[in-house]
Amino acid sequence: MTTAFHRPRDAAEALALLEGTGRLPLGGGTQLNSSESRSLRYEAVALEGLLPRGIGRAGTALSIGASTTFQDILDSKEAPFALKEAARGMADRNIRNRATVGGNLGADKSCSSLVPALLALDARLTLLDGRSLRLEKWLELAPGRQGRSVIASVVLEPRKGLRAGYARWSRVACDIAILGAAAAFFDQDGIVRGLRLALGGVAAHARRFPALEAAFEGKVLPTREGIEGLVSGGDPSGHPYVSPIDDLRASAAFKRSRIASLVADAFANAYVGEANAYVGEANAYVGDAGSHDDEAQR
Ligand SMILES: Cc1cc2nc3c(=O)[nH]c(=O)nc-3n(C[C@H](O)[C@H](O)[C@H](O)COP(=O)(O)OP(=O)(O)OC[C@H]3O[C@@H](n4cnc5c(N)ncnc54)[C@H](O)[C@@H]3O)c2cc1C
Repeated sequence: MTTAFHRPRDAAEALALLEGTGRLPLGGGTQLNSSESRSLRYEAVALEGLLPRGIGRAGTALSIGASTTFQDILDSKEAPFALKEAARGMADRNIRNRATVGGNLGADKSCSSLVPALLALDARLTLLDGRSLRLEKWLELAPGRQGRSVIASVVLEPRKGLRAGYARWSRVACDIAILGAAAAFFDQDGIVRGLRLALGGVAAHARRFPALEAAFEGKVLPTREGIEGLVSGGDPSGHPYVSPIDDLRASAAFKRSRIASLVADAFANAYVGEANAYVGEANAYVGDAGSHDDEAQR
């Protein structure tokens, strides 16, 4: 429940309103104004109009403003394919029109749509207080002014030849994901290099799985069956690579039975076709260049 609503005129005023006060930044409000936040009493500091919105080049990098909505990502010709696929999973167009990139990272849900994809793509964040840090470092910080602060934009550095794929599993197309998987890697004559693998829905928050990444590194990319076998197995000391949590969306047993084939899907989706690859041709992103009819996909 919103107990007070602040509309700062600029970023400095927003920071002053948020600093050490326990007030919450308000993006699109699709989580803060939802029934999920019913028991929360908070003062909202509106970010609308203060943070960049849209996706564009910043030098060689791609900059995604924190106020960019999920629909903006889908409509963009610049967004990497894996990020579009992640955004496509969001409920319906009404929610996609409101939900922002900053709000999705701020919500930091286990089953977040964007966190796995942005972790795999090695996103860097620019914060309203001027800091710049990698997404995975930001996720390790506690919420609050001295910790996470407000995200102003997400920056992706194109890397020539990088392939990235995303896959999700939900009960029905418009439901929030129960599981999500994103993989980004280089295919060097069939050998996997520099794999970043992030999973959602298996832990309290979406995160990378370094031991599993290492199991693929420097080896021939396995067949689908091989990928599933690897993901279902364990590290050299016998610990399972992935031990999913039980939550209200699905049991750990169910998630265990699905996650391996979802990871295989994420790898496969990184090869869906040239137009879909996340490649750094001429040091630039190649999105899907409008090859999708986004509405027809839903
Ligand atoms: C019907 C429905 C379906 C949904 N489906 C999905 C789904 O498929 N996948 C998914 O991931 N989520 C889903 N959600 C949850 C939610 O909508 C998303 O997480 C959304 O991206 C939140 O963005 P927002 O801008 O609306 O955030 P808000 O509700 O405004 O804020 C969410 C949190 O982020 C913080 N915040 C906002 N902006 C920033 C910023 N710039 N920097 C730092 N912190 C910030 C807020 O203080 C708050 O803690 C769904 C919600 C609904 C109601």
